[in-house]
Amino acid sequence: MNVFHKTSSGDTFLPRTQSFLNIGLDDTDTPGGGCTTHLGALLATYLMKNEKCRLLDYPNLVRLNPGIPWKTRGNASVVLRIDRSCNLSVEELVELISSFIDSYQGNCKHRNSSPGIVIYNGYPWINDLRGFYFRALNDVVLLDDARKIMDKHGIVYNNGRGVIGALAGIAGLAPGDPYTFELLAYRDPKYWGEKRYIDYQSVFKYDMLTGELTFSSIDPERRKQIITPHGPDPVYFGVRGIEPGKLLLALETIKGNEPIHGWCIYRTNQATSIHEKTTTTPRYHRTSKYKCTVSGNPQKIPGGHIILEAECHNTIVNLAFYRETYPLNKIATMLQPGDQITVTGPVKQRSTSVYPTITVEVLYVEELATKPVEVAPRCPKCGARMKSKGIDKGYACPKCGYYDRTATKIHVVIPRDIVPGRYTPTPMHIAHLVSPNWLHPLMLKKFPLFPVNGFCGHSINSPVNNPPVSNGSH
Ligand code: ATP
Repeated sequence: MNVFHKTSSGDTFLPRTQSFLNIGLDDTDTPGGGCTTHLGALLATYLMKNEKCRLLDYPNLVRLNPGIPWKTRGNASVVLRIDRSCNLSVEELVELISSFIDSYQGNCKHRNSSPGIVIYNGYPWINDLRGFYFRALNDVVLLDDARKIMDKHGIVYNNGRGVIGALAGIAGLAPGDPYTFELLAYRDPKYWGEKRYIDYQSVFKYDMLTGELTFSSIDPERRKQIITPHGPDPVYFGVRGIEPGKLLLALETIKGNEPIHGWCIYRTNQATSIHEKTTTTPRYHRTSKYKCTVSGNPQKIPGGHIILEAECHNTIVNLAFYRETYPLNKIATMLQPGDQITVTGPVKQRSTSVYPTITVEVLYVEELATKPVEVAPRCPKCGARMKSKGIDKGYACPKCGYYDRTATKIHVVIPRDIVPGRYTPTPMHIAHLVSPNWLHPLMLKKFPLFPVNGFCGHSINSPVNNPPVSNGSH
């Protein structure tokens, strides 16, 4: 039975009348290991194999406000959308998933981890939930707010703080929202914590082979691959793109020194800039888009970072352009008081400043100040710059000797070295949610959602050294 329909944007998607379960998960990882995406992939595989559940969409990887101080890494939640053909009740599912998380965390349990499980039986893109999603993308939301909404809509949940991300995730990636895909390849637990090795040439080849359909695999300027994380988590590498088929190619093309233990393709709000929708007043931990007028001169601080004072909605703020966000830090040095800019990024507190600091992720140069400067006039005979003969004594030309007693200073507008436009950091340091300039917005919805085939490699459960399954079935 085809349960999908086409939306006005051309996406094929779940209709309002289709009854399905949305399982949201968050906060299952610890600084010592694990990752909610890894758990999500294992759980999806388990539910399909053992409980005969059918996934109606790729597993979703939903990024939320990057300004949340208690996040472990990239503030991501995971959502599985399954049909009702499995025989488990919602309560049984919560129990099953709780023990799944318990055994996943094993000895790695950490006091900072507070797993959240949220299960909603119904169409999730309703106003209350969408509103919650957008607040969680931009702002800090309270556990109590999440609980109120869940109680109102009969949503089943557990006790963890992770229910905030889990609930927001459920309402993410609605029909019509932009999306991209990420294939995550996982490591055998015996390699967790060890240095990752990936052959740059193979990633370069992959990037060439897939062209515009994948992005941010290499940093061409530094000639580095940028698909591997650095922490102790189970992710070996991640490739991002807009067409799942091209992501699968990574499993054959990219070479490393350890076997891929499993993989999963996530549909995600990464690289869509969906959090840039609103322009608001700066508030601590809020990540949004802010219109500012530059009010100070750029200050270089140790480490090569640039701090710039600006006025934003009648609030003085510091804009931090970190060295890693090149070329933003370079452009920041060319800004001057009066320039109109818009920035996106989380608002943080710095011990060295009384003002809130926005960590700039995206810079829009809107309008450059055209403050004229006074200079000596040019010689009307030979064009050289004239020299003053003293107060009220006019100007003389040092080249041809022409003298004009009545000449005075003139006003000129010095051309600026920057041009208005949107600027993002290099692929290596671009923030998860930010859409890179090299990814055309139209590309974000080009591929219809439909066949959820081959989204997950079953080698996740297979013995060590099993070759990756390049086209998982379920
Ligand atoms: P990983 O990327 O490995 O999944 P993470 O960076 O997502 O880790 P978590 O350990 O999941 O970090 O912690 C994030 C916590 O913040 C979760 O408990 C989540 O419910 C909560 N959270 C997410 N967004 C918000 C928000 N906007 N306001 C308040 N809490 C939030």
